[in-house]
Amino acid sequence: MGRFTVDCVDSFGFFIGPANVNVHDIGECFGENCCIHNPSRHHMKTWKQIWRDDHKIMHRMCLHEIGHPDPDDLSSDRNHHCCGCCDPNKFIEGEVVVREIERS
Ligand SMILES: [Zn+2]
Ligand SMILES: [Zn+2]
Ligand SMILES: [Zn+2]
Repeated sequence: MGRFTVDCVDSFGFFIGPANVNVHDIGECFGENCCIHNPSRHHMKTWKQIWRDDHKIMHRMCLHEIGHPDPDDLSSDRNHHCCGCCDPNKFIEGEVVVREIERS
């Protein structure tokens, strides 16, 4: 088990800020995409990570401060309030979605 410090939402759904979470050892995901040790080349790669202990899944926060499931976290609970940013077809460097929100 390794330790990883990341902003967290606790098991009750409250944002608690940076905390240590237990993660698998780096060797366990060797050669595979891993949201912690080896992120794939997805468009959300540079976004801030947030560990959702209530859903047991890693989220990435977009520029609207909305959390989207990390594409490299294969957990099944992918329900989230979505502004569209986790869809690579809708998200083009942030421009499309930002314009839509400014208009409304
Ligand atoms: Zn890993
Ligand atoms: Zn989303
Ligand atoms: Zn967004």
